[in-house]
Amino acid sequence: MKKESIVLLKKLLSSPKNIVIVSHKNPDGDAIGSSLALSLYLKAKRHNVAVIMPNDFPEFLKWMPESESILIYDYKTKECDDKIASADLIFTLDFNALSRVDAMQPALEASNADFVMIDHHQEPDNYARFTYSDTSICATAQMIYHFIEMMEDLHLINQNIAKNLYTGIMTDTGSFRFRSTTSTTHRVVAQLIDTGIDNAAVHQNVFDANSAQRMQLLGVALQNLTILKEYKTAYITLSQQELDKHNHKKGDTEGFVNYALSVKDIVFAVIFIEHKEEGIVKMSLRSTGDFSVNEFAKRHFNGGGHKNASGGRSELPLDETVSQFIRILQSYKTQLTDAK
Ligand code: 5GP
Ligand code: MN
Repeated sequence: MKKESIVLLKKLLSSPKNIVIVSHKNPDGDAIGSSLALSLYLKAKRHNVAVIMPNDFPEFLKWMPESESILIYDYKTKECDDKIASADLIFTLDFNALSRVDAMQPALEASNADFVMIDHHQEPDNYARFTYSDTSICATAQMIYHFIEMMEDLHLINQNIAKNLYTGIMTDTGSFRFRSTTSTTHRVVAQLIDTGIDNAAVHQNVFDANSAQRMQLLGVALQNLTILKEYKTAYITLSQQELDKHNHKKGDTEGFVNYALSVKDIVFAVIFIEHKEEGIVKMSLRSTGDFSVNEFAKRHFNGGGHKNASGGRSELPLDETVSQFIRILQSYKTQLTDAK
């Protein structure tokens, strides 16, 4: 973030403000963790803060400190609209294009607040007065730590803030194993643990809360795993019927795509999940190394994200989406076979 912006933001935050913090649709651990941590920090600085998410978030994140205070735009539209309209400052976290908030977009666009974007996705839009964008950082939660550091307030990081930041970093780095995890990440996490939080309990809360039905759905996903050896690609499909059979809940399919990527010699993995009600197939795309799923998702499936982790969607039926995907793969054959 620019020096002048830091100075100006410090000044803006030196007296109580009405602040709204928003994150993207289908919020994940990083979206929720970075938003709650920033909110706890700003509340400690005596601001009036509301955290708003476009839609609900998975059960396995509902233990997070202060998560019960989150306003869901889908459920409390009027209250959220009022908060947005009266905000002096709006922080947008873990996304960088206003279209990522879906139905909330018009309310944000109508606001006269100063926008602060803190995000690590590629190619940020230019809607914020203050932009802190860094695609090399593994998680927005780590950026919130650095933001608090820039505000010279690290001493305000208490255990509830630390638990939220730890969760965001842990979930976005696949438990500190993706390439985006740096020595700085580990130094930040060490500081968080030193506040006295039980770091093992965070892993347990997030990863050891599976329902038997989720595990059975994972079984179905793994049965559906298809390897396209000539493209170093693996994909998984889940139809609405398969989801329904296992009483699918929000977040149940989180991480399934990583099993496809874990197959030896695979560099590109996709999961296709049918959403009958919305009439779309939601895709999660992952890669290792050079192959950019951000470019692939943006170009062919109306999505984007990071180089090695992106989302996308298709309006064709599930089987046609997969056929289309395989057709498109043909033009990436050299790139994929050469990929490391
Ligand atoms: P996931 O596959 O877990 O839903 O998303 C992977 C990454 O891509 C996340 O960082 C997420 O925020 C981003 N992402 C998911 N869907 C979209 C999309 O439709 N557009 C863009 N720009 N990013 C997305
Ligand atoms: Mn993130």
